[in-house]
Amino acid sequence: MEAARVTPLFIRMHDADNVAIVANNGGLPAGAVFANGLTLVDRVPQGHKVALIDLPQGSAVLRYNVPIGYALKDIPAGSWVHERLLDMPAARGLVGLPMATVQPPAPAPLEGYTFDGYRNADGTVGTRNILAITTTVQCVAGVVDFAVKRIKDELLPRYPHVDDVVGLEHSYGCGVAIDAPDAIIPIRTLRNITLSPNFGGEVMVVSLGCEKLQPERFLPPGSFAIVDERQQTEAALDVVCLQADKHVGFMSMIDSILQAAVPHLERLNARRREPVPASALVVGVQCGGSDAFSGVTANPAVGFATDLLVRAGATVMFSETTEVRDGIDQLTCRASTPEVAEAMIREMAWYDAYLKKGQVDRSANTTPGNKQGGLSNIVEKAMGSIVKSGSVPITGVLSPGEKLTHKGLSSGLVYAATPASDFICGTLQLAAGMNLHVFTTGRGTPYGLAAVPVIKVATRTDLATRWHDLMDINAGRIADGQASIADVGWELFHLLLEVASGRKKTWAEHWKLHNALVLFNPAPIT
Ligand code: CA
Repeated sequence: MEAARVTPLFIRMHDADNVAIVANNGGLPAGAVFANGLTLVDRVPQGHKVALIDLPQGSAVLRYNVPIGYALKDIPAGSWVHERLLDMPAARGLVGLPMATVQPPAPAPLEGYTFDGYRNADGTVGTRNILAITTTVQCVAGVVDFAVKRIKDELLPRYPHVDDVVGLEHSYGCGVAIDAPDAIIPIRTLRNITLSPNFGGEVMVVSLGCEKLQPERFLPPGSFAIVDERQQTEAALDVVCLQADKHVGFMSMIDSILQAAVPHLERLNARRREPVPASALVVGVQCGGSDAFSGVTANPAVGFATDLLVRAGATVMFSETTEVRDGIDQLTCRASTPEVAEAMIREMAWYDAYLKKGQVDRSANTTPGNKQGGLSNIVEKAMGSIVKSGSVPITGVLSPGEKLTHKGLSSGLVYAATPASDFICGTLQLAAGMNLHVFTTGRGTPYGLAAVPVIKVATRTDLATRWHDLMDINAGRIADGQASIADVGWELFHLLLEVASGRKKTWAEHWKLHNALVLFNPAPIT
């Protein structure tokens, strides 16, 4: 009954909404009376919906001014509106959508913001200085793990300006239909991750020898920058091949990898941070372990920061196709040109077909935790997810695994089409060229990536308090009335610049919490 002693509060997202979510920590008991006189008929958990008026059977249940479902029976005012009372609407068709119809005035530029980063030869800027050892096939993963540990123990102490050494391990490379058209997705993903801004243009490969993804196919000549004279004249690609005749015994392989690492470490160690404009930031935003507060606190604050970043000339990528599919009309109308809107539709159609082949649709997205957190279905989840993209026009679209080119797609808000799966989305945003990652969570996840700092934003104060050494920002203060969306948005913007500069570490970096790279492979396995 602790909740009854506090003032009952609900949060309504739009004046037209006929449901709102209960804000109070721990939820509210039946009989609780809100300031407007509404009395709860049922006990309603925190983040779950309450009917603000009587909802007759068949009526649209509105949140974000969007029908998130239709009442399966009469729902009296004050009732708990959970997913079992709602019939989910069908996904909007992909024809007749508004194309680039909203042309907001160009937002005022935000000038004067900088961070200290590592400039790369290709024009990108790193936020960390990391040696990556890339791999052509999963078979070599154990050997690379062993070598990376030795490099960290024995070599890294000699190179104090190098932040870390990571092995880019993955499940691809052999046992796959590599000539299938969709194989281009995992292959270009891996290639583009290898060329991530945080790896300084150093390319070092460990290969097995007999695998399908041969080094020349993985990184063809011309697909990456030659970093120095030595590579230009001697070898186009620095490859340690484990099956090479010269290797006698395991230690010979390990020694070869350590030797190969030395010149890369020397060049990385010679690099220094320098002030660069905030426009060099490429920020990937995503959410995971979402609850009903995601779309109320954390995601709107991220959306506010998205607008600030774009005004500062930076690039922001949002993703998660199944979580934007239900709001496609909100996105096509925000596209800067009809061509960008067409590209959005192309990605949605590709994903619809991909899901259909597996005999599911976008509703397969929601998890038990989402529902426990108050999200009834994918429509409600999508409306809360899209707000991460802020209000600026969408200026570009990337297919899965594609990379920003820095010619044309170099700034603004970009839709990078990816699955919503946290680690697959993160892997694909990494391939697209992100140098910072923002991740919002309501249920809580310890998510992190080895290649790029991940700033985690909690949707509720309860989570931020319990996970005080895992969450970087508490957006729950918005629901508590302690901060505005703008306050938290600015806090995130400033934290991004601090983390980008290496002056602050995220909690995931502090504890070295790294999820695996998980390649999206829609092509067959053999
Ligand atoms: Ca996600």
